[in-house]
Amino acid sequence: MTAHLSPPDVDPACDVLVIGGGQAGLSAAYFLQRFGLGDRYQLLDHAPGPGGAWQFRWPTLTLDGTNRIHDLPGFGLADALDGEVGVFPASTVVPEYFGAYEDRYDLRVHRPVSVRTVEYADDGFVATLGDGRTIDTFTVINATGTWERPFVPHIPGIGDFRGRQLHTHDYSGPEEFAGKRVLVVGAGISAVQLLIEIARRAPDVETFWCSRTEPVFDPTPFDPRKGRAAVARVEERVRAGLPPTSVVSVTGLALTPTIRAALDDGILSWRPMFTRITETGVCWDCAVAGSEGIDHLDVDVIFWNTGFRSALDHLAPLHLRGPGGGITMTGRLTTTVAAEPRVQLLGYGPSASTIGANRAGREAARNVADILARPAPSAPTHPTR
Ligand code: FAD
Repeated sequence: MTAHLSPPDVDPACDVLVIGGGQAGLSAAYFLQRFGLGDRYQLLDHAPGPGGAWQFRWPTLTLDGTNRIHDLPGFGLADALDGEVGVFPASTVVPEYFGAYEDRYDLRVHRPVSVRTVEYADDGFVATLGDGRTIDTFTVINATGTWERPFVPHIPGIGDFRGRQLHTHDYSGPEEFAGKRVLVVGAGISAVQLLIEIARRAPDVETFWCSRTEPVFDPTPFDPRKGRAAVARVEERVRAGLPPTSVVSVTGLALTPTIRAALDDGILSWRPMFTRITETGVCWDCAVAGSEGIDHLDVDVIFWNTGFRSALDHLAPLHLRGPGGGITMTGRLTTTVAAEPRVQLLGYGPSASTIGANRAGREAARNVADILARPAPSAPTHPTR
């Protein structure tokens, strides 16, 4: 893989601060350059190397095993990397691709640089970095993803469990579950894929599966209309200021040959969500439909595949969240914060997919270009490089 040594310095002021160098941040930077703002933005990322969240995905997730990773704008994965890469871990292939992409377009990602807070300032915003330095900026394109905010629901007794609890975020392969009784929680594609992987590949493992909603397997092939309908549902929520649901989760579970085989083999034997966690496992109130005859299940591991939330803590000082619990978004692709159009959010709601991130990157770059093109005093120019 290419070595990517970023400039250790950042400029103390710029017109556009892009936070996050995953698919969404790179797409935004590409379009900022296309729209003539190549010397007016800075892109900061606190990961050690290129790849966004993909560099941290579990090693058994191959490129072929993903839902699908769309090419970044202008330069596709097949152009960047030679050979059949589908069988290799996404955690190595995608960083290599993103690294080549950054080089090709000279995107100059500053990393590792963490943004701790973004606050209002006299003429825009001030971002405070992890090391205390500050950057003044007139606009913000936030593209910090969800990977760093794994979500686990609060279930009574959760702190009492003496076994191991882990989240998708911390999974590193099936081997460590050998000989264990493992309860997988969640109804999304990660839960299903990892349940099958553990059941098939960890020696002497016993697996169980619970989720709040009963999973529905769709025997008809995925088609773009279904994708558009799923995105529309998420878009509706963020326009109304409600917390987004994940696009990947609402696209449903396609009944692939692997899933069909797992159903036939009894691996995907589902139970309703337990109501309490005990020191040694989980239990159900008698009232839970479908749980008749079982009141307690002893397990060694509870494996939460219960999703992620947007990693937006650094924007808390801007008070963007409204009474609905989410951030009200507007604009053609809902990248604009309704209450503060100088802040663009990528990967929030409908753009939380690789194809969504590409389109949102373009839209956000166009929006900030329009804002910066307006006559002074609202369009200062900070030399950035
Ligand atoms: P990320 O890739 O998460 O990038 C965010 C970047 O921001 C990171 O590099 C991080 O270091 C940086 N960052 C975060 N906070 C800060 C900060 N405070 N300061 C500085 N830098 C910061 N989508 C698909 O289209 N296809 C799939 O197959 C697919 N599979 C998925 C599987 C899993 C397990 C998950 C969780 C998601 C999946 N998704 C998939 C959705 C996926 O997350 C997005 O498609 C896309 O990769 C997200 O890109 P992003 O740029 O928004 O975020």
